[in-house]
Amino acid sequence: MLKQFFSYYKPHKRLFMIDFTSAVIVAILELAFPIAVQFFIDELLPEGDWNVIVTVSILLLLVYILSTFLQYVVSYLGHKLGINIETDMREELFTHVQKQSFRFFDNTKTGHIMSRITNDLFDIGELAHHGPEDFFIAIMTFFGAFGIMFTINPTLALIAVVMVPLLTALVTYCNVKMNQAWKNMYGKIADVNARVEDSVAGVRVVQSFTNENFEMNRFQKDNGLFRKAKLVAYKVMAGTHSSIYMMTRLLTLVVLVVGAWLNFQDLLSYGELVSFVLYTNVLIKPVDKISALLELYPKGMAGFKRFQDLISQEPDIQDRPNAKTVQELTGNIHFHNVDFSYDPHKPVLQNINLAIKPGETVAFVGPSGAGKTTICSLIPRFYDVEQGSISIDGLDVRDMTKKSLRSQIGIVQQDVFLFTGTIRENIAYGNQQATEKEIREAAQKAHLDDVIASLPDGYDTQIGERGLKLSGGQKQRLAIARVFLKNPPILILDEATSALDTYTEKIIQKSLTELAENRTTLVIAHRLATIRDADRVMVVTSNGIEEEGTYQELIDAGGVFANLHRIQFEQKEEALTK
Ligand code: ADP
Ligand code: MG
Repeated sequence: MLKQFFSYYKPHKRLFMIDFTSAVIVAILELAFPIAVQFFIDELLPEGDWNVIVTVSILLLLVYILSTFLQYVVSYLGHKLGINIETDMREELFTHVQKQSFRFFDNTKTGHIMSRITNDLFDIGELAHHGPEDFFIAIMTFFGAFGIMFTINPTLALIAVVMVPLLTALVTYCNVKMNQAWKNMYGKIADVNARVEDSVAGVRVVQSFTNENFEMNRFQKDNGLFRKAKLVAYKVMAGTHSSIYMMTRLLTLVVLVVGAWLNFQDLLSYGELVSFVLYTNVLIKPVDKISALLELYPKGMAGFKRFQDLISQEPDIQDRPNAKTVQELTGNIHFHNVDFSYDPHKPVLQNINLAIKPGETVAFVGPSGAGKTTICSLIPRFYDVEQGSISIDGLDVRDMTKKSLRSQIGIVQQDVFLFTGTIRENIAYGNQQATEKEIREAAQKAHLDDVIASLPDGYDTQIGERGLKLSGGQKQRLAIARVFLKNPPILILDEATSALDTYTEKIIQKSLTELAENRTTLVIAHRLATIRDADRVMVVTSNGIEEEGTYQELIDAGGVFANLHRIQFEQKEEALTK
Protein backbone atom coordinates (compact mmCIF):
# COMPACT_ATOMS: atom_id res chain seq x y z
CA MET A 1 0.00 0.00 0.00
CA LEU A 2 2.72 2.49 1.03
CA LYS A 3 4.71 1.46 -2.00
CA GLN A 4 1.77 2.22 -4.29
CA PHE A 5 1.26 5.48 -2.47
CA PHE A 6 4.84 6.56 -2.98
CA SER A 7 4.72 5.62 -6.66
CA TYR A 8 2.63 8.79 -7.14
CA TYR A 9 5.64 10.88 -6.09
CA LYS A 10 7.65 9.63 -9.03
CA PRO A 11 6.58 12.21 -11.62
CA HIS A 12 7.29 14.94 -9.04
CA LYS A 13 10.61 13.65 -7.76
CA ARG A 14 12.43 16.94 -8.39
CA LEU A 15 9.77 18.97 -6.62
CA PHE A 16 9.87 16.61 -3.68
CA MET A 17 13.66 16.77 -3.43
CA ILE A 18 13.73 20.59 -3.48
CA ASP A 19 10.94 20.79 -0.95
CA PHE A 20 12.42 18.16 1.31
CA THR A 21 15.96 19.59 1.21
CA SER A 22 14.66 23.08 1.98
CA ALA A 23 12.69 21.71 4.92
CA VAL A 24 15.79 19.98 6.29
CA ILE A 25 17.86 23.17 5.98
CA VAL A 26 15.15 25.18 7.74
CA ALA A 27 15.11 22.63 10.55
CA ILE A 28 18.89 22.75 10.90
CA LEU A 29 18.90 26.55 11.00
CA GLU A 30 16.21 26.44 13.65
CA LEU A 31 18.29 24.02 15.70
CA ALA A 32 21.35 26.22 15.33
CA PHE A 33 19.69 29.47 16.36
CA PRO A 34 19.68 28.95 20.18
CA ILE A 35 23.37 28.02 20.01
CA ALA A 36 24.05 31.32 18.27
CA VAL A 37 22.15 33.17 21.01
CA GLN A 38 24.08 31.35 23.71
CA PHE A 39 27.36 32.21 22.00
CA PHE A 40 26.21 35.81 21.75
CA ILE A 41 25.46 36.08 25.47
CA ASP A 42 28.27 34.01 26.91
CA GLU A 43 31.13 34.92 24.56
CA LEU A 44 30.40 38.19 22.80
CA LEU A 45 28.74 40.22 25.56
CA PRO A 46 31.64 39.84 28.07
CA GLU A 47 34.09 40.95 25.34
CA GLY A 48 32.14 44.18 24.86
CA ASP A 49 33.25 44.81 21.26
CA TRP A 50 30.43 46.65 19.51
CA ASN A 51 31.83 46.04 16.01
CA VAL A 52 31.86 42.28 16.51
CA ILE A 53 28.28 42.38 17.77
CA VAL A 54 27.15 44.33 14.69
CA THR A 55 28.97 41.95 12.34
CA VAL A 56 27.48 38.89 13.99
CA SER A 57 24.03 40.47 13.95
CA ILE A 58 24.30 41.14 10.23
CA LEU A 59 25.32 37.52 9.72
CA LEU A 60 22.31 36.42 11.75
CA LEU A 61 20.09 38.67 9.67
CA LEU A 62 21.34 37.03 6.48
CA VAL A 63 20.64 33.61 7.92
CA TYR A 64 17.14 34.78 8.88
CA ILE A 65 16.47 35.98 5.37
CA LEU A 66 17.64 32.66 3.95
CA SER A 67 15.50 30.77 6.43
CA THR A 68 12.43 32.89 5.68
CA PHE A 69 12.87 32.33 1.97
CA LEU A 70 13.27 28.60 2.47
CA GLN A 71 10.17 28.49 4.64
CA TYR A 72 8.25 30.12 1.84
CA VAL A 73 9.65 27.53 -0.56
CA VAL A 74 8.71 24.68 1.76
CA SER A 75 5.17 25.90 2.26
CA TYR A 76 4.52 26.70 -1.38
CA LEU A 77 6.30 23.78 -3.01
CA GLY A 78 5.01 21.38 -0.39
CA HIS A 79 1.44 22.32 -1.18
CA LYS A 80 2.25 22.26 -4.87
CA LEU A 81 3.50 18.71 -4.47
CA GLY A 82 0.33 17.73 -2.63
CA ILE A 83 -1.99 19.28 -5.18
CA ASN A 84 -0.02 17.83 -8.09
CA ILE A 85 -0.39 14.34 -6.71
CA GLU A 86 -4.04 14.99 -5.96
CA THR A 87 -4.63 16.24 -9.51
CA ASP A 88 -2.91 13.21 -11.04
CA MET A 89 -5.03 10.88 -8.94
CA ARG A 90 -8.23 12.74 -9.71
CA GLU A 91 -7.54 12.57 -13.42
CA GLU A 92 -6.73 8.87 -13.20
CA LEU A 93 -9.92 8.24 -11.28
CA PHE A 94 -12.10 10.18 -13.71
CA THR A 95 -10.61 8.47 -16.73
CA HIS A 96 -11.02 5.13 -15.05
CA VAL A 97 -14.65 5.76 -14.11
CA GLN A 98 -15.44 6.86 -17.67
CA LYS A 99 -14.18 3.53 -18.93
CA GLN A 100 -16.42 1.51 -16.67
CA SER A 101 -19.28 -0.47 -18.09
CA PHE A 102 -22.98 -0.03 -17.38
CA ARG A 103 -22.84 -2.84 -14.85
CA PHE A 104 -20.43 -0.80 -12.73
CA PHE A 105 -22.80 2.17 -12.68
CA ASP A 106 -25.74 -0.10 -11.89
CA ASN A 107 -23.94 -1.00 -8.68
CA THR A 108 -22.23 2.26 -7.74
CA LYS A 109 -23.81 5.30 -6.18
CA THR A 110 -22.95 8.62 -7.82
CA GLY A 111 -22.44 10.13 -4.37
CA HIS A 112 -19.73 7.60 -3.63
CA ILE A 113 -17.79 8.48 -6.76
CA MET A 114 -18.21 12.14 -5.93
CA SER A 115 -16.81 11.72 -2.45
CA ARG A 116 -13.83 9.74 -3.84
CA ILE A 117 -13.14 12.57 -6.27
CA THR A 118 -13.43 15.32 -3.66
CA ASN A 119 -13.12 14.39 0.04
CA ASP A 120 -10.87 11.36 -0.27
CA LEU A 121 -8.53 13.09 -2.65
CA PHE A 122 -8.31 16.17 -0.40
CA ASP A 123 -7.19 13.92 2.44
CA ILE A 124 -4.76 12.04 0.24
CA GLY A 125 -3.32 15.31 -1.09
CA GLU A 126 -2.79 16.59 2.44
CA LEU A 127 -1.10 13.38 3.47
CA ALA A 128 1.05 13.35 0.34
CA HIS A 129 2.24 16.83 1.19
CA HIS A 130 2.71 16.52 4.94
CA GLY A 131 3.29 12.81 5.44
CA PRO A 132 6.92 12.06 4.65
CA GLU A 133 8.19 15.61 5.11
CA ASP A 134 6.66 16.38 8.48
CA PHE A 135 7.41 12.96 9.85
CA PHE A 136 11.10 13.25 9.04
CA ILE A 137 11.41 16.86 10.16
CA ALA A 138 9.59 16.21 13.41
CA ILE A 139 11.84 13.29 14.33
CA MET A 140 14.93 15.20 13.33
CA THR A 141 13.96 18.37 15.24
CA PHE A 142 12.94 16.48 18.34
CA PHE A 143 16.06 14.37 18.65
CA GLY A 144 18.29 17.22 17.49
CA ALA A 145 16.93 19.60 20.14
CA PHE A 146 16.99 16.94 22.83
CA GLY A 147 20.56 15.92 21.90
CA ILE A 148 21.85 19.47 22.11
CA MET A 149 19.99 20.12 25.36
CA PHE A 150 21.41 16.92 26.78
CA THR A 151 24.96 17.99 26.01
CA ILE A 152 24.36 21.38 27.63
CA ASN A 153 22.73 20.01 30.76
CA PRO A 154 21.41 16.43 31.07
CA THR A 155 19.26 17.05 34.19
CA LEU A 156 17.38 19.96 32.71
CA ALA A 157 17.09 18.18 29.35
CA LEU A 158 15.46 15.17 31.02
CA ILE A 159 13.02 17.37 32.95
CA ALA A 160 12.00 19.09 29.75
CA VAL A 161 11.68 15.88 27.79
CA VAL A 162 9.55 14.12 30.41
CA MET A 163 6.88 16.73 29.85
CA VAL A 164 6.78 16.15 26.11
CA PRO A 165 4.77 12.89 26.16
CA LEU A 166 2.27 14.61 28.44
CA LEU A 167 1.97 17.40 25.93
CA THR A 168 1.70 14.95 23.03
CA ALA A 169 -1.08 13.11 24.79
CA LEU A 170 -2.93 16.35 25.42
CA VAL A 171 -2.56 17.56 21.85
CA THR A 172 -3.59 14.20 20.42
CA TYR A 173 -6.63 14.07 22.68
CA CYS A 174 -7.61 17.56 21.61
CA ASN A 175 -7.11 16.66 17.96
CA VAL A 176 -9.38 13.66 18.25
CA LYS A 177 -12.06 15.78 19.92
CA MET A 178 -11.66 18.45 17.31
CA ASN A 179 -11.88 15.92 14.54
CA GLN A 180 -15.15 14.56 15.88
CA ALA A 181 -16.52 18.06 16.13
CA TRP A 182 -15.51 18.94 12.57
CA LYS A 183 -16.86 15.68 11.23
CA ASN A 184 -20.17 16.31 12.91
CA MET A 185 -20.19 19.79 11.47
CA TYR A 186 -19.47 18.51 7.95
CA GLY A 187 -22.39 16.11 8.28
CA LYS A 188 -24.65 19.01 9.22
CA ILE A 189 -23.52 21.23 6.36
CA ALA A 190 -24.12 18.30 4.01
CA ASP A 191 -27.70 18.23 5.30
CA VAL A 192 -28.04 21.94 4.69
CA ASN A 193 -26.64 21.56 1.18
CA ALA A 194 -28.96 18.69 0.41
CA ARG A 195 -31.91 20.83 1.53
CA VAL A 196 -30.89 23.71 -0.69
CA GLU A 197 -30.27 21.41 -3.62
CA ASP A 198 -33.60 19.69 -3.16
CA SER A 199 -35.70 22.80 -2.84
CA VAL A 200 -33.93 24.58 -5.70
CA ALA A 201 -34.28 21.59 -8.00
CA GLY A 202 -37.84 21.08 -6.85
CA VAL A 203 -38.78 24.74 -6.62
CA ARG A 204 -41.55 24.29 -9.16
CA VAL A 205 -43.18 21.65 -7.02
CA VAL A 206 -42.63 23.70 -3.85
CA GLN A 207 -44.30 26.75 -5.31
CA SER A 208 -47.13 24.87 -6.92
CA PHE A 209 -48.07 23.44 -3.54
CA THR A 210 -47.25 26.83 -1.93
CA ASN A 211 -45.02 25.01 0.50
CA GLU A 212 -42.44 27.80 0.77
CA ASN A 213 -42.99 28.22 4.50
CA PHE A 214 -42.76 24.51 5.11
CA GLU A 215 -39.45 24.44 3.23
CA MET A 216 -38.25 27.51 5.13
CA ASN A 217 -38.98 25.81 8.45
CA ARG A 218 -37.20 22.63 7.44
CA PHE A 219 -34.27 24.68 6.28
CA GLN A 220 -34.18 26.75 9.45
CA LYS A 221 -34.05 23.59 11.52
CA ASP A 222 -31.12 22.15 9.57
CA ASN A 223 -29.37 25.48 9.47
CA GLY A 224 -29.76 25.77 13.24
CA LEU A 225 -28.29 22.30 13.76
CA PHE A 226 -25.36 23.28 11.59
CA ARG A 227 -24.83 26.45 13.62
CA LYS A 228 -24.82 24.43 16.82
CA ALA A 229 -22.36 21.89 15.45
CA LYS A 230 -20.05 24.60 14.22
CA LEU A 231 -20.18 26.37 17.56
CA VAL A 232 -19.21 23.13 19.31
CA ALA A 233 -16.31 22.77 16.89
CA TYR A 234 -15.12 26.31 17.64
CA LYS A 235 -15.49 25.73 21.35
CA VAL A 236 -13.33 22.62 21.16
CA MET A 237 -10.86 24.51 19.02
CA ALA A 238 -10.64 27.39 21.51
CA GLY A 239 -10.21 24.89 24.35
CA THR A 240 -7.49 23.09 22.43
CA HIS A 241 -5.56 26.24 21.67
CA SER A 242 -5.70 27.56 25.19
CA SER A 243 -4.79 24.29 26.90
CA ILE A 244 -1.86 23.78 24.56
CA TYR A 245 -0.80 27.37 25.21
CA MET A 246 -1.05 26.73 28.93
CA MET A 247 1.02 23.54 28.76
CA THR A 248 3.79 25.07 26.68
CA ARG A 249 4.05 28.10 28.97
CA LEU A 250 4.13 25.73 31.91
CA LEU A 251 7.00 23.84 30.32
CA THR A 252 8.89 27.08 29.73
CA LEU A 253 8.27 28.15 33.28
CA VAL A 254 9.50 24.86 34.75
CA VAL A 255 12.66 25.07 32.64
CA LEU A 256 13.14 28.68 33.70
CA VAL A 257 12.80 27.95 37.41
CA VAL A 258 14.95 24.81 37.42
CA GLY A 259 17.43 26.58 35.12
CA ALA A 260 17.64 29.54 37.50
CA TRP A 261 18.34 27.22 40.38
CA LEU A 262 21.07 25.47 38.36
CA ASN A 263 22.46 28.90 37.49
CA PHE A 264 22.70 29.78 41.18
CA GLN A 265 24.66 26.57 41.70
CA ASP A 266 26.95 27.67 38.84
CA LEU A 267 25.89 24.64 36.81
CA LEU A 268 24.36 26.65 33.97
CA SER A 269 25.56 29.88 32.34
CA TYR A 270 23.22 32.75 31.45
CA GLY A 271 23.58 32.00 27.75
CA GLU A 272 22.85 28.34 28.33
CA LEU A 273 19.72 29.23 30.30
CA VAL A 274 18.43 31.44 27.50
CA SER A 275 19.22 28.84 24.83
CA PHE A 276 17.49 26.20 26.94
CA VAL A 277 14.32 28.22 27.07
CA LEU A 278 14.55 28.65 23.31
CA TYR A 279 15.12 24.92 22.85
CA THR A 280 12.03 24.00 24.81
CA ASN A 281 10.10 25.89 22.13
CA VAL A 282 11.91 23.96 19.42
CA LEU A 283 11.19 20.72 21.26
CA ILE A 284 7.47 21.43 21.35
CA LYS A 285 7.13 21.99 17.61
CA PRO A 286 7.31 18.33 16.57
CA VAL A 287 4.51 17.58 19.04
CA ASP A 288 2.10 19.52 16.85
CA LYS A 289 3.36 17.89 13.69
CA ILE A 290 3.28 14.33 15.00
CA SER A 291 -0.16 14.63 16.49
CA ALA A 292 -1.45 16.16 13.25
CA LEU A 293 0.08 13.20 11.42
CA LEU A 294 -1.53 10.74 13.80
CA GLU A 295 -4.79 12.07 12.48
CA LEU A 296 -3.85 12.71 8.87
CA TYR A 297 -2.29 9.33 8.26
CA PRO A 298 -5.24 7.02 8.95
CA LYS A 299 -7.59 9.42 7.16
CA GLY A 300 -5.39 9.76 4.09
CA MET A 301 -4.60 6.08 3.96
CA ALA A 302 -8.25 5.07 4.27
CA GLY A 303 -8.99 7.43 1.40
CA PHE A 304 -6.11 5.98 -0.58
CA LYS A 305 -7.39 2.48 -0.02
CA ARG A 306 -10.82 3.41 -1.33
CA PHE A 307 -9.14 5.12 -4.27
CA GLN A 308 -7.07 2.00 -4.97
CA ASP A 309 -10.14 -0.22 -4.75
CA LEU A 310 -11.86 1.86 -7.40
CA ILE A 311 -8.81 2.14 -9.64
CA SER A 312 -8.12 -1.57 -9.52
CA GLN A 313 -11.61 -2.50 -10.73
CA GLU A 314 -11.10 -3.59 -14.30
CA PRO A 315 -13.96 -2.57 -16.60
CA ASP A 316 -15.83 -5.78 -17.46
CA ILE A 317 -16.32 -4.72 -21.06
CA GLN A 318 -13.03 -4.29 -22.85
CA ASP A 319 -11.58 -4.63 -26.32
CA ARG A 320 -10.15 -8.02 -27.10
CA PRO A 321 -6.47 -7.88 -28.09
CA ASN A 322 -7.25 -8.68 -31.74
CA ALA A 323 -10.43 -6.56 -31.92
CA LYS A 324 -11.17 -5.14 -35.36
CA THR A 325 -12.05 -1.57 -36.19
CA VAL A 326 -15.28 -1.70 -38.14
CA GLN A 327 -16.84 0.94 -40.34
CA GLU A 328 -19.81 1.26 -42.63
CA LEU A 329 -21.59 -1.76 -41.25
CA THR A 330 -24.74 -2.65 -43.15
CA GLY A 331 -26.62 -3.75 -40.07
CA ASN A 332 -27.07 -7.45 -40.60
CA ILE A 333 -27.73 -8.27 -36.95
CA HIS A 334 -27.88 -11.82 -35.62
CA PHE A 335 -28.55 -13.09 -32.12
CA HIS A 336 -27.52 -16.74 -31.68
CA ASN A 337 -28.96 -18.48 -28.62
CA VAL A 338 -28.38 -15.45 -26.41
CA ASP A 339 -28.71 -15.75 -22.62
CA PHE A 340 -28.39 -12.74 -20.37
CA SER A 341 -29.10 -11.67 -16.79
CA TYR A 342 -28.30 -8.69 -14.59
CA ASP A 343 -28.52 -10.85 -11.49
CA PRO A 344 -26.96 -14.32 -11.67
CA HIS A 345 -30.09 -15.98 -10.32
CA LYS A 346 -32.62 -13.92 -12.28
CA PRO A 347 -32.37 -14.65 -16.01
CA VAL A 348 -33.76 -11.87 -18.21
CA LEU A 349 -33.13 -13.29 -21.66
CA GLN A 350 -32.95 -16.97 -22.47
CA ASN A 351 -32.09 -18.53 -25.76
CA ILE A 352 -32.91 -15.51 -27.90
CA ASN A 353 -32.49 -15.91 -31.65
CA LEU A 354 -32.94 -12.99 -33.98
CA ALA A 355 -32.05 -12.06 -37.52
CA ILE A 356 -32.37 -8.52 -38.76
CA LYS A 357 -31.64 -7.69 -42.37
CA PRO A 358 -29.77 -4.57 -43.46
CA GLY A 359 -32.08 -1.60 -43.84
CA GLU A 360 -34.96 -3.35 -42.14
CA THR A 361 -37.12 -1.69 -39.48
CA VAL A 362 -37.99 -4.14 -36.75
CA ALA A 363 -40.35 -3.23 -33.94
CA PHE A 364 -40.24 -4.74 -30.46
CA VAL A 365 -43.40 -4.68 -28.41
CA GLY A 366 -44.49 -6.38 -25.26
CA PRO A 367 -45.12 -5.81 -21.58
CA SER A 368 -42.78 -3.57 -19.64
CA GLY A 369 -39.95 -5.49 -17.99
CA ALA A 370 -39.94 -8.19 -20.65
CA GLY A 371 -36.44 -7.35 -21.81
CA LYS A 372 -36.81 -5.15 -24.90
CA THR A 373 -34.37 -2.52 -23.72
CA THR A 374 -32.02 -5.26 -22.59
CA ILE A 375 -31.98 -6.83 -26.07
CA CYS A 376 -31.04 -3.47 -27.54
CA SER A 377 -28.33 -2.76 -24.93
CA LEU A 378 -26.52 -5.93 -25.90
CA ILE A 379 -25.91 -4.77 -29.47
CA PRO A 380 -23.60 -1.82 -28.61
CA ARG A 381 -22.09 -4.00 -25.87
CA PHE A 382 -23.37 -1.96 -22.97
CA TYR A 383 -23.54 -5.43 -21.46
CA ASP A 384 -22.04 -8.65 -22.76
CA VAL A 385 -24.09 -11.78 -23.42
CA GLU A 386 -23.64 -14.64 -20.98
CA GLN A 387 -24.21 -17.40 -23.48
CA GLY A 388 -24.43 -17.38 -27.25
CA SER A 389 -23.35 -14.47 -29.38
CA ILE A 390 -24.39 -11.40 -31.29
CA SER A 391 -22.92 -10.62 -34.65
CA ILE A 392 -23.22 -7.74 -37.05
CA ASP A 393 -22.34 -8.38 -40.70
CA GLY A 394 -21.01 -11.77 -39.65
CA LEU A 395 -18.56 -10.50 -37.03
CA ASP A 396 -19.10 -11.06 -33.31
CA VAL A 397 -19.55 -7.67 -31.60
CA ARG A 398 -16.95 -8.75 -29.04
CA ASP A 399 -14.41 -8.94 -31.85
CA MET A 400 -14.94 -5.31 -32.77
CA THR A 401 -13.38 -2.39 -30.94
CA LYS A 402 -15.90 -0.84 -28.59
CA LYS A 403 -15.31 2.60 -30.08
CA SER A 404 -15.87 1.59 -33.70
CA LEU A 405 -18.86 -0.61 -32.86
CA ARG A 406 -20.58 2.19 -30.98
CA SER A 407 -19.78 4.67 -33.73
CA GLN A 408 -22.08 2.59 -35.94
CA ILE A 409 -25.09 2.74 -33.66
CA GLY A 410 -27.35 5.68 -32.84
CA ILE A 411 -29.75 5.59 -29.93
CA VAL A 412 -32.76 7.73 -29.12
CA GLN A 413 -34.35 7.03 -25.77
CA GLN A 414 -37.34 8.14 -23.81
CA ASP A 415 -35.26 10.17 -21.35
CA VAL A 416 -33.08 12.53 -23.28
CA PHE A 417 -29.99 13.56 -21.42
CA LEU A 418 -28.82 17.02 -22.37
CA PHE A 419 -25.75 18.74 -21.04
CA THR A 420 -25.69 22.21 -19.59
CA GLY A 421 -24.61 24.44 -22.47
CA THR A 422 -25.92 25.77 -25.75
CA ILE A 423 -28.14 24.10 -28.33
CA ARG A 424 -25.21 24.00 -30.73
CA GLU A 425 -22.98 22.23 -28.21
CA ASN A 426 -25.69 19.69 -27.50
CA ILE A 427 -26.27 18.85 -31.15
CA ALA A 428 -22.52 18.70 -31.76
CA TYR A 429 -22.30 16.05 -29.05
CA GLY A 430 -23.29 13.65 -31.83
CA ASN A 431 -20.09 14.42 -33.70
CA GLN A 432 -17.52 16.72 -32.18
CA GLN A 433 -15.84 17.27 -35.53
CA ALA A 434 -19.00 18.49 -37.26
CA THR A 435 -18.94 21.78 -39.11
CA GLU A 436 -21.46 24.55 -38.51
CA LYS A 437 -23.15 23.62 -41.78
CA GLU A 438 -23.52 19.99 -40.76
CA ILE A 439 -24.96 21.00 -37.40
CA ARG A 440 -27.53 23.21 -39.11
CA GLU A 441 -28.42 20.43 -41.54
CA ALA A 442 -28.93 17.99 -38.69
CA ALA A 443 -31.19 20.48 -36.91
CA GLN A 444 -33.15 20.93 -40.11
CA LYS A 445 -33.61 17.22 -40.60
CA ALA A 446 -34.84 16.89 -37.02
CA HIS A 447 -37.28 19.77 -37.70
CA LEU A 448 -35.61 21.70 -34.95
CA ASP A 449 -34.61 24.70 -37.05
CA ASP A 450 -37.97 26.49 -36.63
CA VAL A 451 -37.72 26.15 -32.88
CA ILE A 452 -34.15 27.43 -32.89
CA ALA A 453 -35.05 30.34 -35.17
CA SER A 454 -37.69 31.45 -32.71
CA LEU A 455 -35.21 31.65 -29.84
CA PRO A 456 -33.50 35.01 -29.23
CA ASP A 457 -30.00 33.54 -29.19
CA GLY A 458 -30.62 30.86 -31.82
CA TYR A 459 -28.02 28.14 -31.72
CA ASP A 460 -26.28 29.91 -28.84
CA THR A 461 -29.29 29.60 -26.57
CA GLN A 462 -28.37 28.16 -23.19
CA ILE A 463 -30.72 25.27 -22.58
CA GLY A 464 -30.38 25.35 -18.80
CA GLU A 465 -29.53 22.49 -16.52
CA ARG A 466 -30.35 19.25 -18.35
CA GLY A 467 -32.37 21.12 -20.95
CA LEU A 468 -34.81 22.60 -18.47
CA LYS A 469 -35.71 25.39 -20.85
CA LEU A 470 -36.86 23.02 -23.60
CA SER A 471 -40.15 21.19 -23.89
CA GLY A 472 -40.26 17.40 -24.05
CA GLY A 473 -40.80 17.45 -27.80
CA GLN A 474 -37.95 19.93 -28.32
CA LYS A 475 -35.60 17.82 -26.26
CA GLN A 476 -36.51 14.78 -28.29
CA ARG A 477 -35.86 16.70 -31.52
CA LEU A 478 -32.46 17.70 -30.18
CA ALA A 479 -31.71 14.07 -29.46
CA ILE A 480 -32.75 13.20 -33.00
CA ALA A 481 -30.58 15.96 -34.46
CA ARG A 482 -27.65 14.53 -32.54
CA VAL A 483 -28.15 11.14 -34.15
CA PHE A 484 -28.62 12.67 -37.61
CA LEU A 485 -25.25 14.30 -37.10
CA LYS A 486 -23.69 11.03 -36.00
CA ASN A 487 -25.23 9.37 -39.05
CA PRO A 488 -24.87 5.74 -37.99
CA PRO A 489 -26.05 2.80 -40.13
CA ILE A 490 -27.82 1.17 -37.18
CA LEU A 491 -30.50 2.89 -35.17
CA ILE A 492 -32.17 2.04 -31.88
CA LEU A 493 -35.30 3.94 -30.89
CA ASP A 494 -36.21 2.94 -27.36
CA GLU A 495 -39.66 4.31 -26.60
CA ALA A 496 -38.42 7.56 -28.09
CA THR A 497 -41.86 9.12 -28.11
CA SER A 498 -43.51 7.37 -25.18
CA ALA A 499 -43.17 10.34 -22.86
CA LEU A 500 -44.83 12.71 -25.33
CA ASP A 501 -48.46 13.56 -25.85
CA THR A 502 -50.13 12.01 -28.90
CA TYR A 503 -50.01 15.23 -30.89
CA THR A 504 -46.29 15.86 -30.32
CA GLU A 505 -45.66 12.19 -30.86
CA LYS A 506 -47.17 12.40 -34.32
CA ILE A 507 -44.91 15.28 -35.28
CA ILE A 508 -41.78 13.69 -33.83
CA GLN A 509 -42.71 10.44 -35.53
CA LYS A 510 -42.13 12.13 -38.87
CA SER A 511 -38.55 13.04 -37.92
CA LEU A 512 -37.96 9.53 -36.65
CA THR A 513 -39.24 7.97 -39.86
CA GLU A 514 -36.87 10.18 -41.82
CA LEU A 515 -34.04 9.26 -39.47
CA ALA A 516 -34.76 5.57 -39.95
CA GLU A 517 -34.56 5.80 -43.73
CA ASN A 518 -31.71 3.73 -45.15
CA ARG A 519 -30.72 2.51 -41.71
CA THR A 520 -31.25 -0.77 -39.95
CA THR A 521 -33.66 0.24 -37.23
CA LEU A 522 -34.85 -1.37 -34.02
CA VAL A 523 -37.89 0.38 -32.61
CA ILE A 524 -39.24 -0.29 -29.16
CA ALA A 525 -42.70 1.14 -28.91
CA HIS A 526 -45.44 1.32 -26.42
CA ARG A 527 -48.18 2.66 -28.65
CA LEU A 528 -48.78 0.26 -31.48
CA ALA A 529 -49.93 3.01 -33.84
CA THR A 530 -46.34 4.17 -34.14
CA ILE A 531 -45.06 0.87 -35.55
CA ARG A 532 -47.66 0.23 -38.19
CA ASP A 533 -45.05 0.72 -40.92
CA ALA A 534 -42.40 -1.54 -39.44
CA ASP A 535 -41.20 -4.33 -41.73
CA ARG A 536 -41.54 -6.80 -38.92
CA VAL A 537 -42.83 -6.90 -35.38
CA MET A 538 -41.44 -9.03 -32.59
CA VAL A 539 -43.47 -9.58 -29.47
CA VAL A 540 -41.21 -9.92 -26.45
CA THR A 541 -42.61 -11.45 -23.30
CA SER A 542 -41.11 -13.22 -20.33
CA ASN A 543 -40.99 -16.31 -22.56
CA GLY A 544 -38.66 -14.57 -24.97
CA ILE A 545 -39.68 -13.67 -28.50
CA GLU A 546 -43.14 -15.09 -28.52
CA GLU A 547 -44.47 -13.89 -31.86
CA GLU A 548 -42.92 -12.55 -34.99
CA GLY A 549 -44.40 -11.26 -38.26
CA THR A 550 -45.79 -8.21 -39.95
CA TYR A 551 -48.30 -6.03 -38.17
CA GLN A 552 -51.21 -7.49 -40.10
CA GLU A 553 -49.98 -11.09 -39.84
CA LEU A 554 -49.84 -10.81 -36.07
CA ILE A 555 -53.30 -9.36 -35.82
CA ASP A 556 -54.62 -12.13 -37.99
CA ALA A 557 -52.84 -14.75 -35.90
CA GLY A 558 -54.97 -13.76 -32.90
CA GLY A 559 -52.22 -14.17 -30.29
CA VAL A 560 -50.59 -11.88 -27.75
CA PHE A 561 -50.16 -9.05 -30.22
CA ALA A 562 -53.74 -9.21 -31.40
CA ASN A 563 -54.79 -9.00 -27.77
CA LEU A 564 -52.56 -6.00 -27.08
CA HIS A 565 -53.89 -4.35 -30.19
CA ARG A 566 -57.48 -4.96 -29.16
CA ILE A 567 -56.90 -3.43 -25.71
CA GLN A 568 -55.29 -0.29 -27.10
CA PHE A 569 -57.94 -0.01 -29.76
CA GLU A 570 -60.73 -0.30 -27.19
CA GLN A 571 -59.10 2.33 -25.01
CA LYS A 572 -59.12 4.67 -27.93
CA GLU A 573 -62.77 3.97 -28.64
CA GLU A 574 -63.59 4.66 -25.01
CA ALA A 575 -61.67 7.89 -25.06
CA LEU A 576 -63.56 8.98 -28.16
CA THR A 577 -66.99 8.15 -26.81
CA LYS A 578 -66.39 9.94 -23.51
P1 ADP B 1 -38.33 -3.55 -21.09
O1 ADP B 1 -37.46 -2.63 -21.83
O2 ADP B 1 -38.94 -4.62 -21.93
O3 ADP B 1 -39.39 -2.83 -20.30
P2 ADP B 1 -35.94 -4.14 -19.61
O4 ADP B 1 -35.06 -4.72 -20.64
O5 ADP B 1 -35.70 -2.73 -19.25
O6 ADP B 1 -37.47 -4.34 -20.02
O7 ADP B 1 -35.86 -5.00 -18.29
C1 ADP B 1 -35.90 -6.41 -18.28
C2 ADP B 1 -35.72 -6.90 -16.84
O8 ADP B 1 -34.42 -6.61 -16.41
C3 ADP B 1 -36.66 -6.25 -15.85
O9 ADP B 1 -37.05 -7.25 -14.93
C4 ADP B 1 -35.83 -5.21 -15.17
O10 ADP B 1 -36.22 -5.05 -13.85
C5 ADP B 1 -34.44 -5.83 -15.25
N1 ADP B 1 -33.40 -4.79 -15.39
C6 ADP B 1 -33.33 -3.85 -16.35
N2 ADP B 1 -32.23 -3.08 -16.23
C7 ADP B 1 -31.58 -3.55 -15.14
C8 ADP B 1 -30.38 -3.19 -14.48
N3 ADP B 1 -29.60 -2.18 -14.93
N4 ADP B 1 -30.02 -3.89 -13.38
C9 ADP B 1 -30.78 -4.92 -12.93
N5 ADP B 1 -31.90 -5.30 -13.50
C10 ADP B 1 -32.33 -4.65 -14.60
MG1 MG C 1 -37.46 -0.54 -21.83
